[in-house]
Amino acid sequence: MPTEPSFLEQVHLSFDRASAQTGHDPRLLDQIKTCNSVYYFTFPLIRDDGSLESIEAWRAEHSHHKLPTKGGIRYSTHVNEDEVIALATLMTFKCAIVDVPFGGAKGGVICDTKQLSRAEKRRITRRFTISLDDTIGPHTDIPAPDMYTDQETMAWIYDTFDVMHPGQNNRAVVTGKPVELGGSLGRDEATARGCLFATRQLLTHNLVEGLDKLDGAAVVIQGCGNAGGTALRLYHEAGAKVVAISDSSGGIYAADGLDPASVLAFKAEHGTVVGLPDTTTITNDELLATECDILIPAAMENQIHGDNAANVKTRLIVEAANGPTTPTADKVLATNDIVVLPDICANAGGVVVSYFEWVQNLENQQWDIDKVNSRLETRMTRAVDNIVDCWREIRDDARGDLGKPTLRDAALVTAVRRLATVTLQRDIWM
Ligand code: NAD
Repeated sequence: MPTEPSFLEQVHLSFDRASAQTGHDPRLLDQIKTCNSVYYFTFPLIRDDGSLESIEAWRAEHSHHKLPTKGGIRYSTHVNEDEVIALATLMTFKCAIVDVPFGGAKGGVICDTKQLSRAEKRRITRRFTISLDDTIGPHTDIPAPDMYTDQETMAWIYDTFDVMHPGQNNRAVVTGKPVELGGSLGRDEATARGCLFATRQLLTHNLVEGLDKLDGAAVVIQGCGNAGGTALRLYHEAGAKVVAISDSSGGIYAADGLDPASVLAFKAEHGTVVGLPDTTTITNDELLATECDILIPAAMENQIHGDNAANVKTRLIVEAANGPTTPTADKVLATNDIVVLPDICANAGGVVVSYFEWVQNLENQQWDIDKVNSRLETRMTRAVDNIVDCWREIRDDARGDLGKPTLRDAALVTAVRRLATVTLQRDIWM
C-alpha cells in the first residue's frame, strides 16, 4: 500500500476534514489534535535459553483534558511510536463519544507473542510495568488489553503495580482483569457486544439501503480474537448468519453459515480457523471481498485501503478494529454507498465497560451482568443516535470541502465539539 499515508497521518487527515466543520478556531483544534505525552522505554528480556534481548516499548497519553487517561496495550512486531499515538488519539475521541470521563492513551511493546513462552511474556509485562512506574495508576493512566494481550497480562500488570504500591487498593490500575481480581463481568465480551448494540441501533435509522435488521443478515468477520471471535458468537446469537471469518493465517467460508462453537473450539485447538472441516479456505483479501450485508473488520488497522476498497461487496462496515479503513478507502466506500460505522463509535463498548470496571474497583463493588450490559446498551444506543443526529445536521449544512459527510465525519464532529467545550471551560493555565 505505498500510496497510503501512515496510520497517524490518516487519523489526522480524518480529524482535519471533520473538525473544520465545527467552526472552532484552528489553534484550538490543533491543541485537541496534538498528543500530550509519549514515553519510550527499552528494557532487557532474559529468554528461557539464557540469551538476552532488548525490548522497545511506548506509552502515549494523547489527551490530559480529563484524567485518568485510558487505553490498551498491544504486543506486536510492528508497533511503533506513531501507531500508539494514532491509537491513543482515537481513544480520546472514543471516550468523548460514549461520555466516558477519560483522555485517550495507548501502549505498545515490540515482541512476537507467538515466539514467546508464557514466562517470557510475563517477564516482559513485569519489566514494562516497572518502566511505566507512576505514569500509570488508578487516577493517572489505566491500561487495558489490546492485540495479543489479555486478562492474564492485565493480572501481571496489576500484581506488579500492587507490589510497588503496598497498602492501598490498586485494582483500578488496569481494566480487563480476571473477574476474581476485580475485573468486571461482561468486560471480555464488551467490545463485540457494544458493536452489536451499535449495529442494531444504526439499523433502526434506516440509513443502510436494503438492511433494517440483524436477523438473517449475512456477516463476514476479519479477525478471530477477543473482538472478532466474540462477535462471531454474539451476531450468530442475534440471528445473523456469519458466512466467513479469518485470522492471521487466512480465512474460512461456509455459504450456509458457520457454527461459532465449532469455529472457536477449532481455533483453540489448532491456533487458527483455517482447516475447519466443511468450510472453504479463503485468503484475507478474498474474505474482504466476500458478498455480505455486514462486514466486521476486527483484526487491525489499514485492512481496507485504496487498492481493495472497490472490491468490498457489503452494505455496512462495522469497525470493531481500530483504524481498519483508510481515508482513501472511505472515499471509495462512500461513492459506492457503503455505510461505515466508525471505530470510535463501533468498538467503544470495550472502554465503556472498562470505565464500569474502574468505577466498581474504586467502590469495591461488583455489578451483576445485567446491570453491566444494560448500561452498556444505553451508552452505545445514545452514541449512535447522537452521531446520526449530527450526520443529518452536517449533511444539510456542510461547510468547506466536506462534500458528502460520512458517519466517521459525524462521529468526529461530535467528539471534537465535546472536547472543545471541556478545553475552553478549563481555559489556559497561566
Ligand atoms: P486479539 O489479539 O484478541 O485478536 C486479533 C485477531 O486478529 C487474531 O485472531 C489474529 O489472528 C487476527 N489477525 C491479526 N492480523 C491479521 C491479519 N493481517 N488478517 C486477519 N486477521 C489478523 O485482538 P483484539 O483485542 O480482538 O483486537 C482486534 C482489534 O480490535 C484491534 O484493532 C484492537 O485495537 C481493536 N479493539 C479491541 C478491543 C478489546 O477490548 N480487545 C477494544 C477496542 C478495539
